[in-house]
Amino acid sequence: MKRVLNFSAGPGVLPVPVLERAAAEMLDWQGQGLSVMEMSHRSDAFIDIAARAEQGLRTLMGVPDGYRVLFLQGGATLQFGMVPMNLRREGAGADYLDTGQWSKKAIEEARKSGPVNIVASGAASKYTCIPPRGDWACDPAASYLHYTSNETIGGVQFHHVPDAGAVPLVCDMSSDILSGPVDVSRFGLIYAGAQKNIGPAGLTVVVVRDDLLGRAPKSTPAMLDYAVQAASESMYNTPPTWAIYIAGLVFDWLQDLGGMDEVARRNAEKAKVLYDLFDGTEFYRCPVASADRSVMNVPFTLRDASLDEPFLREAEAAGLQQLKGHRSVGGMRASLYNAMPLSGVRSLAAFMCDFERRHG
Ligand code: PMP
Repeated sequence: MKRVLNFSAGPGVLPVPVLERAAAEMLDWQGQGLSVMEMSHRSDAFIDIAARAEQGLRTLMGVPDGYRVLFLQGGATLQFGMVPMNLRREGAGADYLDTGQWSKKAIEEARKSGPVNIVASGAASKYTCIPPRGDWACDPAASYLHYTSNETIGGVQFHHVPDAGAVPLVCDMSSDILSGPVDVSRFGLIYAGAQKNIGPAGLTVVVVRDDLLGRAPKSTPAMLDYAVQAASESMYNTPPTWAIYIAGLVFDWLQDLGGMDEVARRNAEKAKVLYDLFDGTEFYRCPVASADRSVMNVPFTLRDASLDEPFLREAEAAGLQQLKGHRSVGGMRASLYNAMPLSGVRSLAAFMCDFERRHG
């Protein structure tokens, strides 16, 4: 069996112990004689799997009482629509911070249902830094303030939770959820597609403060109403059972590693390997301002773009896969999600140094 080093932005690398456990339990989950995929979502066994997954996430993130954890479908993209549908107050606008391509997608979707106020935009810097908080033109009467904690394409990441005053803070954490500790009590709502740091695609995690439930208009389809999903424990219809099961195993794996502080330490150590490399060469360049560099998605360019193709070809041959930057920006991108080991990042750095020696 061969495992490549997978630097994909998502679906991304998963922890080998989780995949091994899932493989071992595939045909017969804990003596039940069937796989989790084949279980009724109403069975005691599955209800227990889902409850443990929820508890695992609550423990890792320190989700306080007064918040619901929802396991939904439709990806983070559906949340771009569900957030305004559920949280917009009659006649009030919604504040959005624009830090790149994923913020823009969220903004586009929110505009369909009402007024959107862009509090600040990173466009002038070509999205290479986060606009300083002092420059944000927030509306104190906004229904909520939305931001993207980690721009998966641009590689710009918040390393703190911004102040939103009394306005509920909403965050798309798709690509950095569980990458380190976060104070959930600062948020009204957090959402994330699972296929980066949580588990398989098809599951979307939402953490929402109780008082924000029940604001959706009566015409809202049941599946799109947080209150309906919360009242039915995310089982209004058949949930993504397999993805919830794997997510639970990932949560256990993260807890066994030592929880969020240890995970953050590891992620910082991994990212430093690449950022230190950029700082010592002109051959590779990372466009992002030092203070806002992502520990999860590291974009970089080669000084000579005609070397992109050989770089990717040789990397692939060396077992270093999915390093091509997003089609909209080009260049390279190394995604270093939780399950990417330090040794994998060191292998990438060694390859990059060798490539520079041969082509620089
Ligand atoms: N937000 C961010 C920050 C993302 O990285 C992505 C996917 N790469 C999305 C939203 C969209 O997620 P999904 O494909 O789960 O709808």
